[in-house]
Amino acid sequence: MIDKTGQRILDRIDAHRDQIIAFAEDIATHPEPGYEEVRTAQKAAEFLKSLGYEVTEHLAHTGVKGSMKQKKGPTLTVIGELDAIGCHSHPKADPTTGVAHACGHHAQMAAMIGCAIAMADQQVQKCLDGNLNFLAVPAEEYIDADKRARLRKEGIEFCCGKSEMIRTGVFDDTDIALTTHVHMVPVEEDFYLGNPACNGYSAERVTVRGKAAHGAIDPWNGVNALSITTSAIQMMGLMRETFREEDHVRLHNVIRKAGDVINSVPDEAVVETKVRAASLDKIEEITEMINRAYAGSAYAFGGKIEQEKLQGYMPIIPRAADRALIEAADDLGLDYRTVQKGDFNNACTDVGDLSHLVPVVNFTFKGFEGKLHGADFRITDPEKAYILPAKLLALTAYKLLKDDAQEAKEITENYTPVFDKESYIQYVRHTIE
Ligand SMILES: [Zn+2]
Repeated sequence: MIDKTGQRILDRIDAHRDQIIAFAEDIATHPEPGYEEVRTAQKAAEFLKSLGYEVTEHLAHTGVKGSMKQKKGPTLTVIGELDAIGCHSHPKADPTTGVAHACGHHAQMAAMIGCAIAMADQQVQKCLDGNLNFLAVPAEEYIDADKRARLRKEGIEFCCGKSEMIRTGVFDDTDIALTTHVHMVPVEEDFYLGNPACNGYSAERVTVRGKAAHGAIDPWNGVNALSITTSAIQMMGLMRETFREEDHVRLHNVIRKAGDVINSVPDEAVVETKVRAASLDKIEEITEMINRAYAGSAYAFGGKIEQEKLQGYMPIIPRAADRALIEAADDLGLDYRTVQKGDFNNACTDVGDLSHLVPVVNFTFKGFEGKLHGADFRITDPEKAYILPAKLLALTAYKLLKDDAQEAKEITENYTPVFDKESYIQYVRHTIE
């Protein structure tokens, strides 16, 4: 049953329908890569200011936080991701950077803004026994090793947005995070409530050192860095038979450099390697196997390996759909299903890191066609992709914070964090040392 305040929330979103859709579509036509989302961030900041929120900008470079701090009680942080993904062939790709909103983050931003519109209403705020943040977060998508090195020089220690925001204290006041995304697991229904388990990953950049020699006159005096590389990758292929299904291991390599000229024995190759798995322990274990493949191959040919560890993402700590979320979906008459035991998302997200520190109330939604990260990805139903997610976020936030924030308090009391801020920072630093 929708009460008077709930109805007021929905009416406000309906009254701003065109504005929310225009906001999403403007972002989709101006995609920006991670930590470079200047225009998108500015647009979000202006919008939140116009609604009367207290706004802080340039958090972790491009992040924006709008806050409604009025009372005691728990603080919810509603999250929207700012960045687009590299996808040159997408019709809306930026010609210079090659990124496009092929992961639907513009829809998340629209949902967050739509929720902010509803919650800015004075009457609605009177019925909340807690606080709200609206947080536009940079850099969710993977950032390659070169760009990471550049960012470090600019003072960004952690490569993914949420992680850097945890480090710099942006989440210090957050008791519960609310996140959304377009569907990442195959779901027939329009909405999927809860947070399924999901892979985390580790990554490294490996420089393989050999010895140059003429390719025809005296190749026996050379050490072929490309041969070391391909042998190591072949070993990884053979190791695959030891991976168990339930660990969801995925292994990817990109050879960034494989020698300089065709008539010399390649003396340097550079590879980026990524290991995905369902638990932090399994990620560590497989990463060690990969490192043995590199070391063994280098030993066999008489070359050397230099490894640079890159920060990964943590797996998501799964969370069933919370009561407030299910009730809100029922109130809206949505077509949905909840996360079931055994559901798994093979992709990775830095929401995983966040889920180790605070409870994350999450849902995903449809309203799109094509493949995630693909050139054919597009939003086809603005109602399902922008408006209904905004309503679901807003109604859920309201239900969590009304009546002395009873439901929000229950969630925080039943949640045991794996890390606090300090131990999280220590753990991440240890993985990239
Ligand atoms: Zn995404």
